[in-house]
Amino acid sequence: MKQDIFDIAVIGAGPAGLIAGLACAKSGLRTAVIGPAPRFLDRRTSALFGGSIELLKRLTDWGQLAARSVPVAGIRIVDGGEGLFRAPEVLFRAREAGLDAFGYNIANAVLSDALEAACASCLTRVDAGVSHVDIQLDQVALTTDAGVTIQAPLVVAADGRASATRGAAGIDVADWSYPQSVIVATFDHQREHHNISTELHRHVGPLTVVPGPDRSSNLVWIDTHEEVARLLALGDAEFASALTTGLRGLLGKPSAISPRQSFRLAGQTAKQFAKNRVIVVGEAAHVIPPIGAQGLNLSFRDAATVAEMASEAKRGGEDIGGEATLNRYDKARRADIGTRVFAVDVLNRSLLSTIPGVSLARGLGLFALASSPALRARVMREGITPFASSPALMAPVNATTEM
Ligand SMILES: Cc1cc2nc3c(=O)[nH]c(=O)nc-3n(C[C@H](O)[C@H](O)[C@H](O)COP(=O)(O)OP(=O)(O)OC[C@H]3O[C@@H](n4cnc5c(N)ncnc54)[C@H](O)[C@@H]3O)c2cc1C
Repeated sequence: MKQDIFDIAVIGAGPAGLIAGLACAKSGLRTAVIGPAPRFLDRRTSALFGGSIELLKRLTDWGQLAARSVPVAGIRIVDGGEGLFRAPEVLFRAREAGLDAFGYNIANAVLSDALEAACASCLTRVDAGVSHVDIQLDQVALTTDAGVTIQAPLVVAADGRASATRGAAGIDVADWSYPQSVIVATFDHQREHHNISTELHRHVGPLTVVPGPDRSSNLVWIDTHEEVARLLALGDAEFASALTTGLRGLLGKPSAISPRQSFRLAGQTAKQFAKNRVIVVGEAAHVIPPIGAQGLNLSFRDAATVAEMASEAKRGGEDIGGEATLNRYDKARRADIGTRVFAVDVLNRSLLSTIPGVSLARGLGLFALASSPALRARVMREGITPFASSPALMAPVNATTEM
């Protein structure tokens, strides 16, 4: 049985695990990322904003990745309600914030390839599952499916929403469900998207189209479980017709629709973000509905924060996985994760609510945003650089010393 000792062992090689591993390795920590490479094509794309892109610039071959990504230059919110009161459309333009783009829309498969390629040169990548986690007084011993043992004083749990590592550390979760599922697909269309992402806020949940290459877009269609089951069962021509109706003519006639994938909407948050030499990141820490493209952006901030705290501990000669590091991480992530989970939950529930006062309040919020450039600027700033979290690795590359 082979044994290896690292500063940090990351469990899970989804996007959150790979970016956490890279951030730690590039911060001078001896890092292993353990987890199977994806076996199925993930048809989702991720809209990644401001700080997340700065992190990718530092950790990957950004030139190559940017060439396969699509800039998001605007975000439009349309009140798709059926009531008498319709709020005006709100358009956030990156130009208004002095930027060319808020971020980029990147296919998850493309992102995963770029992250794996970057890992090859700076960390140990073990393509296997972890079958046993043994938390000891001064380290954690992990055993893989292949019988390899890996030891580290700190483990980063990036093993997804059902994280067994989180369970081994004794971290509980709060979880809840929504009466909705989501369909994702890509499609071509007649009209230009002008690099604008559009969210149609309907009473069953948002229907969002995110700009893809040329005249194509990525669909994120949230609806009731029953309607999603019906839409999945439709033939391609019938689905194209349902999509035309759903989009209310936006983008023109859809064609070349990819196979559809669906996910059930859920919410979950860990009650502690660090305990017993384990730090949780990504969906092991928080699961939120795909509204406003928050999930992976939040995970990137988890990753940059782990790297920052653990490398500080190493430089200061502290125990990397000791109580002080764990407490600092937990404290640093609490407000950011809490406010995002809360905001997405409230927005989703306000759409589902049949109480007139609730939809009126949401409509008035959109009205205020549509009529106030100052308010839009504040919301944009918070989207690009959240007040509650700004790790140095996510600062604009030219504003700090490059790594
Ligand atoms: C429809 C949809 C659209 C979305 N769009 C966006 C968006 O535009 N922008 C955005 O920011 N976010 C978006 N998100 C959220 C984002 O996709 C997720 O936050 C992200 O995929 C979660 O990544 P993760 O690495 O935490 O989890 P996962 O991708 O689930 O990865 C967990 C990994 O852990 C591995 N694993 C599990 N157990 C073990 C074990 N014992 N040993 C080793 N490995 C293990 C698994 O094999 C898996 O590879 C979207 C989500 C959905 C559902």
